[in-house]
Amino acid sequence: MKHLTARQVEDLEQAMAARMRVLATQIRQELAASDQQHYRDIAGAVTDTADEGLARALVDVDTEVIDRHVIELRDIEGARDRMKNGTYGICIDCGDAVAYERLAAYLTAKRCRDCQQRREHNYAQPGRPTL
Ligand SMILES: [Zn+2]
Repeated sequence: MKHLTARQVEDLEQAMAARMRVLATQIRQELAASDQQHYRDIAGAVTDTADEGLARALVDVDTEVIDRHVIELRDIEGARDRMKNGTYGICIDCGDAVAYERLAAYLTAKRCRDCQQRREHNYAQPGRPTL
């Protein structure tokens, strides 16, 4: 991720942290609103958990409502890991730099725009998810 300036990395990290806080709040609210006591218990327990541990605390939760939030939370955790080991912002298909503008718009992007478009073109089929 040599193509990113320290300032850009900092901005992306802050955007990720902010997004994680929003997701964590939504997940907690959704758990607390659940009609299942088990999920309400988890919501109470994770209030004391650091946001980074939230996804791990939710391993046995699989309601569809919170699922997409949990998936996004895990995606962002993955992006933060890649940032730590220096592979963030590198296209996993072609190895090229992913433009900062694309990362800023889509924090967890793993591919450059060209590779993503090629992938969607190759794999997209009616009724089948492209991600
Ligand atoms: Zn690429």
